[in-house]
Amino acid sequence: MGEGGNTYWSKFVKDLSPYEPGEQPGDENVIKLNTNESPFGPSPAVLQAVKAELNDDIRLYPPSNGDPLKKEISEYYGLSEKQVFLGNGSDEVLAHAFNCFFRKKKPILFPEVTYSFYSVFCKLYGIKNQKISMSESLNINLEKYEVPNGGIIFPNPNAPTGTLLSLDNIRSLLKFNTESVVIIDEAYIDFGGESAIPLLQDYKNILITHTLSKSRALAGLRIGYALGSKDLIDGMYRVKNSFNSYPTSRLQIAAAIASFKDENYFQDSVKKIIKGRDDLTKGLHALGFYVIPSFGNFLLVTHSEHSAADIWRRLRQVGILVRHFDQSPISNYVRISVGCEIQNKVLLEALKKIFVTHLI
Ligand SMILES: *Cc1c(COP(=O)(O)O)cnc(C)c1O
Repeated sequence: MGEGGNTYWSKFVKDLSPYEPGEQPGDENVIKLNTNESPFGPSPAVLQAVKAELNDDIRLYPPSNGDPLKKEISEYYGLSEKQVFLGNGSDEVLAHAFNCFFRKKKPILFPEVTYSFYSVFCKLYGIKNQKISMSESLNINLEKYEVPNGGIIFPNPNAPTGTLLSLDNIRSLLKFNTESVVIIDEAYIDFGGESAIPLLQDYKNILITHTLSKSRALAGLRIGYALGSKDLIDGMYRVKNSFNSYPTSRLQIAAAIASFKDENYFQDSVKKIIKGRDDLTKGLHALGFYVIPSFGNFLLVTHSEHSAADIWRRLRQVGILVRHFDQSPISNYVRISVGCEIQNKVLLEALKKIFVTHLI
């Protein structure tokens, strides 16, 4: 295929710059700390629910807007069912939200260092954007977002830095920003952050997105959702029902309901991840890493004596995958997903060995 792309393509396709996900190796022996998946399986009740759903009824389409799951989520958070939107992973939810709220004249705003899918959606929909620079410590400075815009989006905690914004901070932005939609991507909120859900009472222009891929260990099933005012959610359904009537299957709906019903298992996994994050942070400090304090299930780290590209490559050689984003200002950082206790130990041991042999 030449520079100009395939002649059969629609014109805009050659200008797209698709998202590049972290690799998914087939090899089971690889220690995968590169895509922020859960090191633990989902609740046994989830697996049971999926198996129970595997019957002749899969010949039937699922409920088109996933009503039973919408009900479960609305009850879990104390919201109305009209405030819940479901999708095939939160990436799809975000794609519909960009389409629904961000195709405006003014540029949308998002952090310079953030989830790279936002730029991808902008290209796809021809949305102008302005990337807002980070503070020196790679935090999001929300005051810089108080400028005219066509919309605002940021993850909280941010990815891949793991930094958290307080609700007071977000409230100040919302007091200023009343004319456009503010999307808060809470993919990692369950790992110790404070959700913006209570702000839904006071602000009709915020959309909060969640995923079951990280804290609920269901990345392979693709389930995400958005919470917002009835008006915003109505718009989302208009877009979604112009695209795919049935984005969440019977198996997805059954699995997600079972996950929300098993609160003990969920809390337990989250606690284990937070403990693992603390232990891993200590271990990395001991090896001389600078670790950005994280509220996610991952750590963004850098070392003054060893380049990130080197660390990434040498870990890969010993079967440990982490993520390296070769882009300023984080090109000398690697992102490490928090694994289970054993994975975290193996990682620290491997780093120790790499550093010793490097110095000889
Ligand atoms: C993982 C992630 C998502 C996407 O989650 P899916 O539900 O698996 O599509 C969205 N936003 C951020 C910031 C993420 O890290």
